[in-house]
Amino acid sequence: MEIIDNVKDMQLRADEIRSFGKTIAFVPTMGFLHKGHLSLIEKGKKAGDILVLSIFVNPAQFGPNEDFDSYPKNIARDLELAEKQCVDIVFTPDKESLYQKNYQTYVDVNDLPNHLCGLCRPGFFKGVATVVTKLFNIVKPHYAVFGEKDYQQLAVIRQMVKDLDFDIKIIGSPTLREEDGLAMSSRNAYLTKEQRPAALSLYNALVKARDIVKKGEKNASKIINSVSMDIKKYKDTQIDYISICDPYTLEDVDIIEESVVMALAVKVKTTRLIDNMVLTPDLNYI
Ligand code: AMP
Repeated sequence: MEIIDNVKDMQLRADEIRSFGKTIAFVPTMGFLHKGHLSLIEKGKKAGDILVLSIFVNPAQFGPNEDFDSYPKNIARDLELAEKQCVDIVFTPDKESLYQKNYQTYVDVNDLPNHLCGLCRPGFFKGVATVVTKLFNIVKPHYAVFGEKDYQQLAVIRQMVKDLDFDIKIIGSPTLREEDGLAMSSRNAYLTKEQRPAALSLYNALVKARDIVKKGEKNASKIINSVSMDIKKYKDTQIDYISICDPYTLEDVDIIEESVVMALAVKVKTTRLIDNMVLTPDLNYI
């Protein structure tokens, strides 16, 4: 496994791989790898010849009061896991090489960030779109894999790739969960054992919503009110948002007639968790 830590070397290596007629599959991450990340690597390996994994905690997507400085890190363990997973190249730039002095250029997607996490985290998707653009220009992938766990992020990246004519196929990958249903996340490392039931309330809310929609409930605010009450029963939970929205535009849906996405963000004490699920009415349900 190769480890490349600077931009120029990664670009040269990408050019070389392409000159051999090989395809590059890319999995961008912020590290502290878990099985969710590994599932993306597996998907990428099936798509392209050479798998590049990036590990970079992107300062541009963190707000001033967020957890950039404390974001969990263990690069030695990440490299071990990547090697076991037969990753070909790990790209680990430092923040000074990606954002040099006098950095000025950002990528801003217009509408999709005006929903869900974008409302609670101003500038977040500008930071994401910018770093992903930069990484695409450095790694030069044919394929890039992103998790459905970050549903809005995947939508923003797809829009950006379409609008800016990136010649890259974006592959979405399903959310991996712990046995109890909690979506895997690097931030789960912040949770204490006592906070775990509160953290699980996100998944339980999604399952409840999925089941009642299947049984014919169409009223989105009724569902949101019901699951909000469930979540609020756990101490230390603070709901950032719960939304039932159109899977493409992310606009709120009032009456559920076809498949929608339920997305939510909840703080458990200081740990902000997100999750989502597709809710599909069962048209044959009597
Ligand atoms: P992160 O390191 O949190 O920025 O995530 C890197 C990539 O892994 C993103 O495309 C995420 O959507 C994806 N990811 C994070 N958690 C999961 C999960 N539980 N299952 C599948 N993909 C995930």
